[in-house]
Amino acid sequence: MNKIAFVTGGSRGIGRAIAVRLAKSGFDLWIGYKSNTVAAEEVKAMIEGLGRSCELLRFDISNYEETEAALAKKVEERTPHVLVYNAGITRDNLMVWMTRDEWDSVISTNLDGFYNVTRMLMFPMLKAKRGHIIVVSSTSGQIGQAGQVNYSASKAGLIGAARALAREIGKKNIFVNVVAPGFIETDMTAGLPKEQILNLIPINRLGKPEDVASVVNFLCTEEHMYIHGQVIGINGGLAI
Ligand code: NAP
Repeated sequence: MNKIAFVTGGSRGIGRAIAVRLAKSGFDLWIGYKSNTVAAEEVKAMIEGLGRSCELLRFDISNYEETEAALAKKVEERTPHVLVYNAGITRDNLMVWMTRDEWDSVISTNLDGFYNVTRMLMFPMLKAKRGHIIVVSSTSGQIGQAGQVNYSASKAGLIGAARALAREIGKKNIFVNVVAPGFIETDMTAGLPKEQILNLIPINRLGKPEDVASVVNFLCTEEHMYIHGQVIGINGGLAI
């Protein structure tokens, strides 16, 4: 039986590229998504086209009960080798104008979602005594981004959570690492002013989802693995 990789937010953007890359490395996939079934079906077809199986799991990661209903039994029956905690949203606004809903929705999806999903996998992964957890944070979580106080807080929170978890479960042969992408071309960044952003990036191009996927793939598949509890920037030099 092939190993399973579970990618939250695997239906679009960075998560999709990660899912496809892991399928090429021989993993079967579980793809989590919230509502865009058309996009999810597309990635399923891509993965099956690579000769791997793909299961779609539709649930809202910010909702504990929904997450439990989707995962609790499933992860007991077959425990993924890899969890990529990738799903996330932005609701940008300056702090002075930020609504309570903009704050809450970002924190509950990006940060509470991490608890909801990862907690569900903890016992099975600890029992299996193996695994990789990759958390997708952001440059915003490392250095802060104006207009993203909510998002930066959630992504910095993920870094703290992953570092603490790495200390808890490293002994059980479960690796925990964080990737922190800069500006990557996806639906999430489609509305941003490219020319202005390029001035900030020494490599002089925006990132592609595949740039993130290759690092995640390395972290999940490299045999000689001694990287643990680290935050790896994938940002073209945006934050040095
Ligand atoms: P995207 O294209 O907007 O895709 C987001 C994915 O997350 C979709 O699959 C979406 O499902 C899923 N999702 C959103 N809310 C969810 C929820 N409540 N429950 C379950 N699934 C949910 O985003 P992206 O640009 O690929 O970003 C992926 C991750 O990378 C995010 O955590 C983001 O913060 C991080 N990141 C992105 C960039 C960038 O420049 N793009 C930079 C740094 C970090 P549906 O398709 O059903 O909506």
